Amino acid sequence: MYLERLERALPDVQRRIERACERAGRSDDESVTVVAVTKGHPVEATLAAREAGLQVIGESRVQEARAKWEATGDLGLSWHLVGHLQRNKVQRALQMFELIHSVDSLRLAAAIDQEAARLGRSVSILVQVNASSEESKFGFTVDDAFDPIRDICDLVHVRVRGLMTMAPFVDDRSVLRETFRRTCVLFERCRDELRRFDAAHLSMGMTNDFEIAVEEGSTMVRLGTVLFGERLR
Ligand SMILES: *Cc1c(COP(=O)(O)O)cnc(C)c1O
Repeated sequence: MYLERLERALPDVQRRIERACERAGRSDDESVTVVAVTKGHPVEATLAAREAGLQVIGESRVQEARAKWEATGDLGLSWHLVGHLQRNKVQRALQMFELIHSVDSLRLAAAIDQEAARLGRSVSILVQVNASSEESKFGFTVDDAFDPIRDICDLVHVRVRGLMTMAPFVDDRSVLRETFRRTCVLFERCRDELRRFDAAHLSMGMTNDFEIAVEEGSTMVRLGTVLFGERLR
């Protein structure tokens, strides 16, 4: 059931991403990665994603991801954490996730750094910025983010590979566009001014806004509903 749905949905999503790239005059080598967000769906969704050729799986919660990760351990999928991470779950998160999109405080970054040091490795993260300044969201506001990002870049075992943002839940496309644009401006400033900021990824765009995000420079879209349907829980 998931595979059928996905095989119908994915070509359309890919076409929409391509067209958004064209509208923005983006060249083919600046590709956009689809992160298949399977939260709220059973492991069948994860398996369908792989079957359809999607390699990157996004999950919001460490606990929920764990069972799916264990069940698909040998399939060579890349797991990304896109939801808020509590510091007491850092150790488990580092076992599974190749990229943590949602580093939303210096304290969390420091906890990741400490655990990575203990493991003798480095950990790739994105810093989550809250471009809409909604109080309910995690992350730094765009105006306040530069200094903490600089401090996070100084952590030896953390590799800052870019930024992530979530747009506000509004229909006004100009508000969405402004959110992504502000995040992109910050991304470019970090890239230009912070030596250790490795500007590989700008994670922006979900089911309702991914085309605007791509037009504004996103390199990673995190898609759930458009690929898998409404979440079950
Ligand atoms: C759930 C979630 C998504 C996917 O949302 P859809 O609107 O279903 O595409 C993307 N990013 C984050 C951070 C999420 O929590």
